[in-house]
Amino acid sequence: LKTFRRGRRSSTDPPRNMSGKLSVRCFAKFNTQLYVLGRRPDGFHEIRTVFQSIDLHDVLHIELGGRGIEFECDSQEVPRGRENLVVSAAEAFAAGYGKELSVRFRLEKRTPVAAGMGGGSSDAAGALRGLNMLLEEPFPKGALWEMAARLGSDVPYFLVGGRALGEGRGEKITPLDDPPRMHLLLLAPGIKISSGTAYRLFNLTCSPSISDSTGAFSAGDGMPFLPWRNELEKGVFGAHPEVGGLKERLLASGAVEAVMCGSGSTVVGRFADREAARRAADRLPADRITVTLCSSIERSRFLRLFKCGDDDTARR
Ligand code: ATP
Repeated sequence: LKTFRRGRRSSTDPPRNMSGKLSVRCFAKFNTQLYVLGRRPDGFHEIRTVFQSIDLHDVLHIELGGRGIEFECDSQEVPRGRENLVVSAAEAFAAGYGKELSVRFRLEKRTPVAAGMGGGSSDAAGALRGLNMLLEEPFPKGALWEMAARLGSDVPYFLVGGRALGEGRGEKITPLDDPPRMHLLLLAPGIKISSGTAYRLFNLTCSPSISDSTGAFSAGDGMPFLPWRNELEKGVFGAHPEVGGLKERLLASGAVEAVMCGSGSTVVGRFADREAARRAADRLPADRITVTLCSSIERSRFLRLFKCGDDDTARR
């Protein structure tokens, strides 16, 4: 990483942001389309996907000071230390920043973990963007993107949010126009599936091919709103039939369409309006699954609501 420094402030100067504190919202995502185009020599799969932000989010509190990089979280499901993407993001940031960085993070985890909703990647992007804001933007956008892509395939998307096309491993991002707001119901069965496992299951069950529909699936024409489709479903549903069962339940409860989120195991359904989603939620037994009503979130709100305390609420 190159070192980017701006201005003539020395490493002993306090940040001009005197509070040295910031709390940020790290929004979750699902993929309205996810096509697997083939396997690459580096072991990753070449994909073409459309990401969509939703108003479910973690809150990451960032405070300059302390000793080195400190991290705590209210969830036992999240790893501590450098295995946490927040910590690795801060380390990548510090390496480029060129001077020691002392920062405390406290993460309020709300997004289901290892459930295909990009929670860890969103937290990592939140740490990068939050630190850059707190330290008065030592990195230009391009440098943050570079760091984000090194941290993980989905991380660059969370610097942009809204609806966006992802190509390559998912890290090549083209922002797309927002769809009309979607009324969604999430069913999270609590089954943890890593993206590695989902792609291994894909390899066992499917041979990657450029399906006909991907022809219509390029950023050039502004991207039409295609029917939802996730090519990782077949493998995951084969190994975990209960996940496929949740998709069927959503459709039977009146969802206009439903799809598995990313590598699973959460499934999301879209309803005609909020009331229809609420009625379906009331009918679903929530014994072994977490049922969450939420909405899609437009890019402008994703960016505006990043900082907690700004004058809007994320869930409207
Ligand atoms: P992926 O597709 O990368 O597997 P996901 O969206 O399905 O991601 P995440 O919630 O991001 O799921 O968690 C994936 C793994 O990342 C978890 O099993 C966890 O060990 C690790 N992880 C690291 N940092 C975080 C974080 N801040 N929040 C959640 N998980 C994290």
